[in-house]
Amino acid sequence: MLRVDPGALGGMIAELARGCVLVTGSNGKGTTCRMLAQIMRAGGLHPVLNGEGSNQLSGLATTMVAHAAPTGRLRQDFRAIGLFEVDEGSFPEVMPHIRHPAAIVVTNLFRDQLDRYFEPAYIMGLLERTMRSLPPDTTLILNADDPRIACLAADLPNPRLYFGMADTGPCRSEPDPTSDCPRCPRCGGELAYSSVFYAHLGHWACPGCGLARPEPDIRATGIELIGSQSTRLEIATPAATTVISVPLPGLYNAYNALAAVAAATQCQLPEESLQAVGEITAGSYRMERVEVDGRDVYLALAKNANGYTEVLRAVLGDGLPKRMLLGLNTNPGKQPDTSWIWDVDFDAIAGLVLVPVVSGNRAADLAVRLKYAGWPDPGDVIVQPDPVAAFQAALAATPPGQPLWIVSTSVVLSGIRAWLRRHGYVRELWQEFAREQQEQARRPRLRIRPQAPALPASVQPRPVRRRTALPLQTVELPAADMPSAGPVRPLVAGSTVSMPTTADLPPLIAEGDDPAAPAGREASIEDRGAGL
Ligand SMILES: [Zn+2]
Repeated sequence: MLRVDPGALGGMIAELARGCVLVTGSNGKGTTCRMLAQIMRAGGLHPVLNGEGSNQLSGLATTMVAHAAPTGRLRQDFRAIGLFEVDEGSFPEVMPHIRHPAAIVVTNLFRDQLDRYFEPAYIMGLLERTMRSLPPDTTLILNADDPRIACLAADLPNPRLYFGMADTGPCRSEPDPTSDCPRCPRCGGELAYSSVFYAHLGHWACPGCGLARPEPDIRATGIELIGSQSTRLEIATPAATTVISVPLPGLYNAYNALAAVAAATQCQLPEESLQAVGEITAGSYRMERVEVDGRDVYLALAKNANGYTEVLRAVLGDGLPKRMLLGLNTNPGKQPDTSWIWDVDFDAIAGLVLVPVVSGNRAADLAVRLKYAGWPDPGDVIVQPDPVAAFQAALAATPPGQPLWIVSTSVVLSGIRAWLRRHGYVRELWQEFAREQQEQARRPRLRIRPQAPALPASVQPRPVRRRTALPLQTVELPAADMPSAGPVRPLVAGSTVSMPTTADLPPLIAEGDDPAAPAGREASIEDRGAGL
């Protein structure tokens, strides 16, 4: 499609009545999109989202074509909104097709795929240069706890909405060994932290120049990590304080929920719709649960040092020993580097994995890494490069009724999932996505009544405080011994991407007419309790 008509994708995206929201960053893009899609649906919108793994230009084009009528134009839907996960490395390629995004969410930035993305400074440069072509009213929704993201394109006039953790209960007592140790985005000096949540995410400041973490607009004021299954969050927005249950474990999913709530706040969705986060199911390989012969098997993708570490912490954070299969695989031509396993914090969880099984074509490398992390002697670790054989060995070592976690790079997971599909335990990924879309479309929704004179005061959207410049704060921090990082490649300013702009799109939540909405068919907010 793009070869025949390069403008076709941009044309279809421009037809989305409520505009579009993009989500990018190293980790958490897919889950943040899934959470935000649930909130949007609950708020009465019809999100058009690309499926997991379709976050590059071709995947986006496929998504839009799938939603188009035979005429090549989108079906008229005054509630349609684009919700696109965008691979951070593909951001410059995708953006010229999205002329006027309402908001861009940036989750975080970690070292990832060094062979493809080099150092994080390279990705920062890509994002910064591309953002210079944004319309000035596109809101940047940024993670305040990630120093690089908080200061992303700081000189642009675009409105900013920050999200971050306020409850320091789950913070670490010492610097995290998985930190990338980013330097001060302004002066290049060493940052100091009063609280570290994980890696380099925390309450940071630069003692050298006074640059400090901006005060978030969307804050997690209470964080309760409930074992290896779920999380409970109290989130304060400019409008209200809400408690939501997230059916996914770990601090990283708390950040994903915060990002989704921040985007929902920007879209002025009603407060009640935030509860829909509790309805999400785990995405493919994102703690995806499969019942196999009386055992709950969880599939968790981990493709970089930070992701691997945080998934292990989410599963083992309660300190109770678990049964796990850990995988590591190269992917010729796509993922040749596995050196990052030496940055995974295996040391802190030594002894917590019962009968560890390691798999993948780099299983032996992983076993060596575990040995140096103080795990059991190599003789106590089952090393089985073949994913299916490793899975069967791990399953045999797991008593019925006990869970088994599989944490791995993608090749091992896809090998195991293919076996599960052949034996009828799961469906194809595209079938799962289609089924979920159909179920979501059928499910009754909390909807905004377009013709209603006013929403109840408790759900009346309130304007969000917007910032146009990064505020500077001078803070007193206790002396922190953060490890030093090497020199950081300076970001290159300037624009290399040209992007057309369009006239203003309609507001995301219009108070006016909605000709597509049949009169009397809307289930109002009050109707939800009646099961409509
Ligand atoms: Zn500084």
